[in-house]
Amino acid sequence: MRNLKELSTASNQIPVHGVRKLMNESEKFSDVIHLEVGEPNVNTPDYIRTEAVKAMENEITHYTPNAGLLSLRNSIKKHFHHKYELEVSEKEIAVTAGAVNALSISLMAIANKEEEVLIPEPSWPNYESILFMQGSIPVKYDLKPDNNFIPDFSQLETLVTNKTKAIMINSPNNPTGAVYSKETILALIQFAKRHNLYVISDEVYDEITFENTHYCAKNFDDDGRVISIFSFSKSYAMTGWRVGYAIGSESLINAMTKLIEPVISCAPSFAQKAAEAALTGSDEFLIEMRDIYLRRRDNVYKILNENDIKAYKPGGTFYMLIDISPTGLTSNDFAMRLLHEKKVAVGPGETFGIITKKMVRISLATADGELEEGVKRISDFINENHNEQNSKINS
Ligand code: PLP
Repeated sequence: MRNLKELSTASNQIPVHGVRKLMNESEKFSDVIHLEVGEPNVNTPDYIRTEAVKAMENEITHYTPNAGLLSLRNSIKKHFHHKYELEVSEKEIAVTAGAVNALSISLMAIANKEEEVLIPEPSWPNYESILFMQGSIPVKYDLKPDNNFIPDFSQLETLVTNKTKAIMINSPNNPTGAVYSKETILALIQFAKRHNLYVISDEVYDEITFENTHYCAKNFDDDGRVISIFSFSKSYAMTGWRVGYAIGSESLINAMTKLIEPVISCAPSFAQKAAEAALTGSDEFLIEMRDIYLRRRDNVYKILNENDIKAYKPGGTFYMLIDISPTGLTSNDFAMRLLHEKKVAVGPGETFGIITKKMVRISLATADGELEEGVKRISDFINENHNEQNSKINS
């Protein structure tokens, strides 16, 4: 038989997401506590689901414009006016199949092959994968725990070359839970202006903040270099519906809209109607979920503290990073052993970057009882595997 030709470089370069690996491995067991998954543990609210059914009955089952239904873009416009006091026109909005689609087409619209894009380290692994997919080069900037997981501006300055096209930022941040202050967002935009870079601002956790306020980067854009990206997935428990959107200058949105055609053509039509219902409905669900995540965050943090385990309290999102350095294990080994020995699945920090290689990420979007039991088992595992030598080295 003839050997087939090799598959593309991109398909070889893209790693299997570490969290997916854990999910796949956990299928071998029936009684696993899942703290690795990044999605709400509740169903999409009724008032949103009802609208999708109504839309299907009213024959909203066809293609929509590439940039999304005008009625949804109008609702986004009103939402922005109300939430961020930001005036945008429908020509500055593109509705996409989830934020991941908005991120990939915005990068496709901005960066060519071999051009560089600054991305955070640690970060959601898909940033790097998207750049690999299009042959652009990810250049990582640090988000270190001793700098409260915010960018180090002196390091950023050293990373810019004549091939740098954009910087990606993410606040509230996955996996660190950091929520950037207004000053940090402003400084990032100033940095981008100094070097004439685009700013792609991933704001999918904008509705999940605790003590801190979320500042939308687009609000501070005075020359059309910022794209802010949002999603219905996390805030409205709509991960499977695949609706997100980007806000940018008319020319950027035009370019992105052209790219939507060959990539996805449009986001699902009835899901767009459901998203419209989400935005125009009451904020009750958002407030309720925020309170639940906050309560869980404080409870988990307390349990870990009582067990002498270091964790990083998130200011937003539903993730928490836990320090596993006293065990001396790599986060991949830690996560695999924890799964096999304690039946708890967590996100290995290595999936997100080197800075988090001695940490694991847990999700607070898990039912209270399970979350508490999972965190107790993690605490036991860390304390049972406490390696004196390692804890000295790391202290
Ligand atoms: N951005 C970040 C930081 C995420 O964590 C995720 C999902 O986990 C996404 C984007 C993708 O969201 P969506 O479901 O809207 O594609």
